[in-house]
Amino acid sequence: MRIAFFSTKPYDRIWFEPMGKDYGYDMHFIEAPFNEETVTLADGHDAVCIFVNDSVTAGMIDRMCEMGIKALLLRSAGFNHVDIHAAKGRIPVLRVPSYSPEAVAEYAMAMLLTVNRYTHKAYNRTRDFNMNINGFIGTDLNHKVAGVVGTGKIGQAMIRIFKGFNMQVLAYDPYPNPNLDVRYVGLEELMEKSDFISLHCPLTESTRYIINRETIAMMKEGVYLVNTSRGALVDTEALIEGLKNGKFGGVGLDVYEEEEGLFFEDKSSDIMQDENLARLMTFPNVLVTSHMGFFTVEAMQAIATETLENAYAVEHGLPLKNLVE
Ligand code: NAD
Repeated sequence: MRIAFFSTKPYDRIWFEPMGKDYGYDMHFIEAPFNEETVTLADGHDAVCIFVNDSVTAGMIDRMCEMGIKALLLRSAGFNHVDIHAAKGRIPVLRVPSYSPEAVAEYAMAMLLTVNRYTHKAYNRTRDFNMNINGFIGTDLNHKVAGVVGTGKIGQAMIRIFKGFNMQVLAYDPYPNPNLDVRYVGLEELMEKSDFISLHCPLTESTRYIINRETIAMMKEGVYLVNTSRGALVDTEALIEGLKNGKFGGVGLDVYEEEEGLFFEDKSSDIMQDENLARLMTFPNVLVTSHMGFFTVEAMQAIATETLENAYAVEHGLPLKNLVE
């Protein structure tokens, strides 16, 4: 099987190269993202493997069909970046539904602790031997209310972590899990009662801008918000407005609605054109990171293993357990 990997970085090769060789796959690692212009690079391959910010339109699916591409392999759990409707019945789209939910949940907690206790700023101060702690006051998590939006695999790992901090946990999910030891409430109640809110639902038409002017208005003064899920769950302009009004104790964003073409790239020598991202960086209580919640050894290993198993299943006509429908 010839596989074209798009949006690849050195760390992708580290995991895929040795494992793919064991399968006997001919792998072509392409740094460019997968888009309308680069889709032609997939010609001559049997499968295309893409990452979270490679948007696949209906037109690109048509092109892939013409090229005889047999599978679209996602190195991710989320699939909101692919026109699944256009692919249905034409090219199987396979994802990695679960690689390490703990990786993302642990990272969400790291972000929350960072913005709460200002460790990112303290690091810079003490490196200059500025031992002043002014402005770094945080708040205890013990006995506080944590709100988890979406109680799938990552949400459940987050609930376990919050409980480990002796927090009271509220959850919202339109499909509550009866086996979970958590108190489900409506979205409004979660917004009103939580001191710390963490988003773990997928991006769909019903979750787009789930954090908006109205839901922000429902939140407590001094609330903490962490988004490690998908950028467009949050209306960035409404968030900025809330931040300017002093609504938030802290905000951690590992994802951003306009991250495509920006995140995962070194833009440090460029003039930043994205006004909202530039504005977010100016708030002392906001931490933005570049979609790296998944980035652990265990997760990378699992992503490579599962992606190659997905390719193998297509190649050998086996049941496609990770087919996105
Ligand atoms: P999952 O499918 O196991 O769980 C998602 C949960 O969200 C489900 O329980 C579902 O019922 C719930 N949900 C659906 N609509 C909802 C709504 N309107 N409101 C609240 N909940 C809703 O998915 P998961 O593995 O837990 O992953 C969650 C998301 O995390 C993914 O969709 C992806 O966007 C994101 N993610 C981010 C990273 C990262 O590196 N930052 C890595 C992996 C996944």
